[in-house]
Amino acid sequence: MNPKDQISAARLWAAYSYPYLASALFALRVVPDEKVDQIAGDEYFRVYINYDSASDWPVDVLGVELIHQVGHLLRGHASRAREIELRTSDLYRWVDAMDAELNDDLLDGHALPKGSASPEELGLPESLFGEEYFYRGTTRTATQRDCGSSAHGNPRPWDQPPPRQRKDGVTAEEKELIRQRVASDALAHHRNHGSTPAGMLRWANSLLTPQVDWRSELGAKLRQGIAEITGAVDYSYQRPNRRQSVASRVILPNLRAPAPEVSIVLDTSASMNEELLADALSEIDGLLSTGGVRFESVRVFTCDSEAGFPQKVRKASDIQLIGGGGTDLSQGILAAVQTRPSPDLLLVVTDGGTLWPESPPRRTRTVAVLVGEDPPNTPDWLERIVVKESVNRNRDWAAK
Ligand SMILES: [Zn+2]
Repeated sequence: MNPKDQISAARLWAAYSYPYLASALFALRVVPDEKVDQIAGDEYFRVYINYDSASDWPVDVLGVELIHQVGHLLRGHASRAREIELRTSDLYRWVDAMDAELNDDLLDGHALPKGSASPEELGLPESLFGEEYFYRGTTRTATQRDCGSSAHGNPRPWDQPPPRQRKDGVTAEEKELIRQRVASDALAHHRNHGSTPAGMLRWANSLLTPQVDWRSELGAKLRQGIAEITGAVDYSYQRPNRRQSVASRVILPNLRAPAPEVSIVLDTSASMNEELLADALSEIDGLLSTGGVRFESVRVFTCDSEAGFPQKVRKASDIQLIGGGGTDLSQGILAAVQTRPSPDLLLVVTDGGTLWPESPPRRTRTVAVLVGEDPPNTPDWLERIVVKESVNRNRDWAAK
């Protein structure tokens, strides 16, 4: 088979095996180049192939390489490398980490691209993000693989200048369209056949579901809640006005802005994701203090199938997580609103697998802080915020 036919056959094999990748596979421009060791890609959907060394590759081996290149492009590995300001000395380690992310998504029975790293080789489980493999994985020393600037953004000697015409490569705009298309095809494929690999599905979902960072959403809700309560300036008769003594028998009201009473009901049933729970609590802690509410004055009710005693703690990490049974948070909510003074704002932190009261507590604004990727529905009367793995996790790792 001549090289061109061989590439066409490989592309067809790849599109047949991974139909949701077809629009990306057919956007690839193949450029023969002898400077390339075997095969490498750039950021413009160009794949440089050394025909001499790749000529004896079986169709499926070449097909997997094309799928692999498409993976680097769709997942934006080059821009992710720029985001963490990848050092040239870390380049091969980065390629290994990105390859491990991609190799998760090959179907059973398909060989990994030659010399590419698997999660196992980096000493970590499957289905992690590339950045996790990069920061936490072990370094391979025996083998190195350079997939090209498609994987790390560092220009290679064979890279051609950015394309001026469509036939020379894919522009940034077109790249975005291809990514959207593949993402929706991957979801549709999963609906119809249920066989889109998990990592691919996660990528497609995150691309197509615009994610508002839960931190800013939670911040907005809490600030709004606190402002409404403290802003409700109240002519209170509780503390007599100091002019009382000169006025005769009429009790004069005193103007005061009440400090909001905030309580938290915390789901401590066995199913909670502890890492996200800790994230959510420390965020709540920080937000309340910037909103003028000291965490010490917040009552925390742990609850599984029964409510625990209210705890007052100095910071979120001091909360004793008592529980571990089944879940009925309506008990915790009842305990919280029956404690005097009753809360103005009640945060219910849970994974959502619980019974809820049928009607909202009177006089208490209640917000469900739902921890986990895909929490169940909540009653209409309940405000909700979903706390899930942040889209900016990459940066968190980079900072460590
Ligand atoms: Zn690669």
